Amino acid sequence: MKSLEEYLALAARNHGHMCPGQVLGVRMAMLGLKQLGIDDPVKHRKRLLTFVEIDRCATDAVSLVTGCRLGKRALKFLDYGKVAATFLDLETNRAVRIAARDDSRVKAREMFPELTDQRRQQLEAYKVMDDAELFTSQWVRVKLKSEDLPGRPRTRVACEQCGEGINDRRERLVDGRVLCRNCAGESYYERVTSD
Ligand SMILES: [Zn+2]
Ligand SMILES: [Zn+2]
Repeated sequence: MKSLEEYLALAARNHGHMCPGQVLGVRMAMLGLKQLGIDDPVKHRKRLLTFVEIDRCATDAVSLVTGCRLGKRALKFLDYGKVAATFLDLETNRAVRIAARDDSRVKAREMFPELTDQRRQQLEAYKVMDDAELFTSQWVRVKLKSEDLPGRPRTRVACEQCGEGINDRRERLVDGRVLCRNCAGESYYERVTSD
């Protein structure tokens, strides 16, 4: 594993700026890997799945340190709105969930009262605070379906309504018809008719 400083430099470049979220994300991922006993995330890339619970700054840093990416199915996004992540070792089936403590914000203010900017306070404090001050950590069991694992698609069918292909059992069976989630009424968009 690289040092905190090395990861922070890489994270800032990758994310586009340095921010408290990069520090939290890097440290969260380093702690998760440490708990799992994975010292080299590059070498053990295929062992690791990471579940992130927010789509904000910290997630980029978590992905950078773990090497888990959405396009590899190794990064799973769960929209819980929490700065938290679960690190799953597929080899041992052990998983640890790390969550940022809310009181670390207060602590950051107390540690750096001379800094007037809250963002600067957090940025500096999050680099030096103990893991236990920054995070809570718990061992968990992740409910993971085989069709959510990395690797080649397990299944592929075509939607009987729109004809688009659907991988990995994301289809729905509605009144005996195989439909994509959109055609089954779970759509996140609606079609706009242009004239
Ligand atoms: Zn940021
Ligand atoms: Zn369809």
